[in-house]
Formats: sequence, structure tokens, C-alpha cells
Amino acid sequence: MSINLQTPIDYLKGVGPSRADLLRKELGVFTCQDLINLFPNRYIDRTQFYTINQLQRNSSDVQIIGKITAIKEVGQQRGKRLVATFTDATGTMELVWFKGQKWIKDSIKLNIPYVVFGKCNWFAGKFNMAHPDMELQSDHERNFTQGMQPIYPSTEKLSSRGLSNRAIIKMIQQLFLEVKKEELYETLSPTIIKQLKLVSKQEAVINIHFPKTQVDLAKAQFRLKFEELFFIQLQLILKNLIHKSKIKGFPFAKVDNYFNTFFKQHLPFELTNAQKRVVKEIRHDLGSNAQMNRLLQGDVGSGKTIVALLSILIALDNGFQACLMAPTEILATQHYSGLVELCKPLNINIKLLTGSTKTSGRKLIHQELENGELQILIGTHALLEDKVKFKNLGLAIIDEQHRFGVAQRSKLWKKNTSPPHILVMTATPIPRTLAMSVYGDLDISVIDELPPGRKSIKTVHRYDKNRLQVFKFIKDEVSKGRQIYVVYPLIQESETLDYKDLMDGYESITRDFPQPKYQISIVHGQMKPADKEFEMQRFVKGETQIMVATTVIEVGVNVPNASVMIIESAERFGLSQLHQLRGRVGRGAEQSYCILMTGHKLSDDSKTRLNTMVQTNDGFKIAEVDLKLRGPGDIMGTQQSGVLNLKIADIIKDKDILEHARYHAKHVLKNDPSLTNASNNNILNTYRALAKFKNIWNYIS
Ligand code: ADP
Ligand code: MG
Repeated sequence: MSINLQTPIDYLKGVGPSRADLLRKELGVFTCQDLINLFPNRYIDRTQFYTINQLQRNSSDVQIIGKITAIKEVGQQRGKRLVATFTDATGTMELVWFKGQKWIKDSIKLNIPYVVFGKCNWFAGKFNMAHPDMELQSDHERNFTQGMQPIYPSTEKLSSRGLSNRAIIKMIQQLFLEVKKEELYETLSPTIIKQLKLVSKQEAVINIHFPKTQVDLAKAQFRLKFEELFFIQLQLILKNLIHKSKIKGFPFAKVDNYFNTFFKQHLPFELTNAQKRVVKEIRHDLGSNAQMNRLLQGDVGSGKTIVALLSILIALDNGFQACLMAPTEILATQHYSGLVELCKPLNINIKLLTGSTKTSGRKLIHQELENGELQILIGTHALLEDKVKFKNLGLAIIDEQHRFGVAQRSKLWKKNTSPPHILVMTATPIPRTLAMSVYGDLDISVIDELPPGRKSIKTVHRYDKNRLQVFKFIKDEVSKGRQIYVVYPLIQESETLDYKDLMDGYESITRDFPQPKYQISIVHGQMKPADKEFEMQRFVKGETQIMVATTVIEVGVNVPNASVMIIESAERFGLSQLHQLRGRVGRGAEQSYCILMTGHKLSDDSKTRLNTMVQTNDGFKIAEVDLKLRGPGDIMGTQQSGVLNLKIADIIKDKDILEHARYHAKHVLKNDPSLTNASNNNILNTYRALAKFKNIWNYIS
């Protein structure tokens, strides 16, 4: 029977039913194609040969050519071993076996050149190699063990059931003997291959398994990584293009009274250049015929709110309603009061809807939404409820995206006959590479500039034993009229313990900062919303000087007079969370501080996180470090992990290749959006087939 790539693995010579079963269960290898796509994890460099007189004590694995001149059994019982004298032109050493002696003794051929490979030990004045990896030199030249030797992924079960690395190598060798080379057809266009000097698909696939040199390997890896990233980018960009051409948005043709009056007369400050640029990008989207799907990234305090308001005013100018959704009640409330203040001179109907909105208020909101009197609705995910029906929703803004899922975004889409424009705002900067991979289907705007005159926050790391000094510092700041946050971790798995920490901390603070001189607020998740709100408001109004809290205050809260953020057990927070918390201070004119408190014992990762916080205030830099520490899957959650489930590329390490891939994918689609040019034939065929498969590598190659 002839073999092709779709042939089940059982039919490959040397793979019986039990091995096929193991391959399927342990490695997910079902077909010959899957086996070809089982890429090695690493390689052992067998391009170098040593002579016996070159051996060094404590050297790593070495490869030597020589002959076995004698073989004998030595020792008694448990100490029994087989020792062979191995010589080359420069000297003599020993090969030793403690197990399988009979089989070795029978199969070894004397005075014929062998290639042996392994670690050399120095013992009793001689080098020896125990259980060497060995083969006849004549076989070695035929086998793929010369050059770089692939090491395949393995599992405990595989090795215990005798499916060794060597066995996998043999199977893949067999596969390359049986499968026609033409089946490994080219997937990229001649232009791209030429421009990037890529090796052919065939060459890449063979060399990823059996490279003869480091250079061959590097070329194969580059080609396959590029290909993987290229087709992901192509899919994302095409999805975006198709979306734009298919889904009609509401064109906001004009910019009228609301916008102009506000912009000319009531703008409380001059926009930063970054804000101006972003407003322009959004205006352009809203004015076009397509539905906007834009992600607005801007570090904490970069001024996203005003951008949101200006976008809302454009919607209102065109007779549409707008809504703004925030992840927590506190945040929604804050947005509400901020926007009410800004909109005062414009006479706009704006209301707040959260879980704690009373029934009567709720009814009024529902009514005014449906008859169109209500122009702006601010709220929490209460906005997503089916009962919330708009007369004419034109723009939906989501603040702090990472708390909302894709499913919620799509609920907003359904709030009008045609989906409203969507603006997603996030204060957790996403590294460019990650944004490109995960949000390739969203357009991205970035506010990369803070409003002028901000003093950058000073961050320090202090150990628990320095607490007295820290308390003294708090007292000094309070005496200057400032306010302080003290934040405790609250992690679901250990909620009771964390809660105890918080209460203990609160008690110790009330002891060190006695009433009536000091007033202290406390806010945590186990409080009723109304109590939380009450405590929060006391702090906002300046009635309390110290706010003891869990991370409920993480996002959005704005108290410009608060100048110190103390984070307890800071080693237990993730980087982006630390950065978010720090963003609660530094909002006023005064110098602000962030103090990271920890115990003495810190893991390397914790140290990196703390040092990063101390060294930089730049959210994008912090996001890069975070990505390196946690990996993309962890950052984005499982929703998008499909996109990130890469087989060979790594969006952190292969950032440059990703940039190339995106550039070329864009370029190809710009010149040939439907991929119908003959020169893009390979790409089109691959893309089409890809659409049928979940896993890209089932198809590419
Ligand atoms: P974030 O991006 O974190 O949501 P905000 O929109 O809350 O930031 O803005 C943070 C603070 O900066 C607010 O007090 C806001 O009034 C102020 N602000 C925003 N843009 C500017 C600007 N261009 N000039 C001066 N202050 C600004
Ligand atoms: Mg904000």
C-alpha cells in the first residue's frame, strides 16, 4: 500500500497497532501528517567529532570514532560489568555496560569502526563511557544521526512502553522514504520566499527533523515559524476586512453642536497630541460605512475618559444613543459623576444603571431608553440585561476590557438592528506582539503620552521589618493633608486567610493611627455595596485619611489627593495588578509614592516583578516583562488560547518574525484582497484548506 500524508499511522512500516495506539494517545499523532508535524523539542549537536586525546575531564557529551579491540566481563555478581577497550589513532579508553551485557557482547563487532556518543568519565587513570549511544560508522553515515540529532517530545508512558526517541527517529525516517516529496507542497508565494530568502517547504520540513548543521536548522526553523505566524495574521486581517465589508455600521456623517460646543467652549484642558490622534482615528471610523471595532489602549491616567466622551458626543450629534460600561459599581459611579460634571453645560440626559439601581429608577431608565429621551447610559454589566432596550444605540464603550469577555461584547452588538460601533478601552497595556496575535481583528489606538505636568510616582520596595519607618512616612504625609491607600491581596483560593490578613492589618493600623486624629475607611468584597459605597465616599470626600482595602479599588478609582499607595504582601500580586494599583495615586499635583511591602523570602519571579515596578512607570514596559514571566495564555485567559497555541513560533521570542509575518500578510492582502492573483496561488490554497481545520498545522505542510 502506498502511503500519503493522510494515511493513518498504523500503515507505516515499523508501526504496529500497539505503537500506533501509543502515538495517538500520548502524542496526538493519528496520521502521517501528524507525525511529520511532530517537531523535535531540541537537538543534540553531533556535528563535532573528538579524538581520544582531546577528551577533557568534565566535558559534556562527546562523539568519537574508534574500534573495539577487546571485550571482557569483569567483577562479581552485582559489580559485574562488561568492559570494552576502545581505541582510535590517538589513544585508548573504555566502554562500560552494567546492564544488557549478554546482548551487547553478542552483537558487538570487533575491529570495525563505530561511532560512540555519550558522556566521558575519568576513572582509575582512564576515560570511560558508560552505556554509550553507538552504531557502526557505516550505519551512521546512512542514518540521520549524523548532524544534529532530534530529540522528540516524550512522555513517561512512551518511554516505559519502549517507544524511545530512537524509535521515533526511525519512524520519521521511514516516512520520508515512503511519502512522495511532492506531497510536501509549497504554501508561500514565490515573491515572499525570494524576498525573505526562505528555504522551500520540503527542505524546511526535512531539516526541522534532520538538520545536518546548525545553519540548516536555523533556516528551517525560521521558515516554519514565519509560515505559522503568517497564516495566523492572514486569517486575522482577512477576518477584519470581511467584517468591514459585510457589517454595515451607522455612518456618523457629521460632527455637530454637541461636539463642537464642548470642544470649543468646555474642554477642561488641552488634549495631548496622543489624545488628538486617537480622537481623529475614532472619528474616521465612525464616519465610514463600516462598524467600528476599536481597542483603545492607554496607560492609567493617560486620559481615556475624555476620548470616550468626545466619541459619545459624535454619536449624539448624529441622533444616536451611547452607553459606557464599566466592570465595577464604584467605577461606573465614578464615570457617571465625572461625565455628568463635564456634560453639565450641554444639557444632556445621562443616567446610571447598576445592580443597586432602585426599581423605580430602573423603570424610568427603561422607558426613557426606549422612547429615546435618554441619551447616555452609564453602568455595569446590568446594561447587558435583555430588559435594557435602546431606541437607537449607536456607540457602546467598554472600559477596562480585561474584565469583560468576548461574549459580553457580542451582547452589546445585539442591542440594535445593526451592531453599534464598539470602543473597548483598556488600561492594561498589551504588548504589541500579543495585541497583534490576539486582537488582530480589532483596530488598535494607543495613547502613549501622559498629560503634561504629571510627577512620576516614586516606587520603593520595603521589607515587613521596616514597617515602623513606613508608618512614620504615612504620618508625615497625612500631616501634609494627603491621603493613603493600604491594599491587601485577596485571592479567591485563600479568601478566608486573606480576609483575616486584611482585618489584622486594619486592626494594627487603627492602633498605630488612633482616632480622632486619624480617620480610617475600610472596603472589601464581603461588604454590602451600599456600605462599600459609603466608605468609599468618605475617602473621596477627604473625611478619612487612610483607606484600607482589598483590590476592589484596583481599577479606575480617582482620588487626586491620595498620594501614597502601600501594597501589602506585594509579592503575591501580578505585575499588571501592581501597576493598576499604583495608578490610583499620582493623579494630583503632589509627588506620589508607591511602597511595596514584602516578607524576606522572595522567589526569583517575585524579585523581577518588584524590581520592574521600582524601575519603571511605563505600562508598556511592564506589560512586556509580564508577558515574559507569565506567558501569553495566562495573560489573555483561555478564551483566546487557540490563537496562541503555536506549534513552533513563540510570540515573545519570535517577535521580529511576527512583525515580518504581519507586514507580509498585510502587503499581500493590500495588493490582492481576494488572493486571486496566480502568484498567490499557494497562499490561497493553503488558506482555504486552513479554514477547514482548527489546528493550522494539520494543514500547513
Ligand atoms: P484613564 O486613561 O486612566 O481613564 P482619565 O481619563 O481618568 O485616565 O484621566 C486621568 C486624569 O487626567 C483626569 O483627572 C483627567 O481629567 C486628566 N486629564 C486627561 N487628559 C488630560 C489632558 N490632556 N491634560 C490635562 N489633564 C488631563
Ligand atoms: Mg479610566
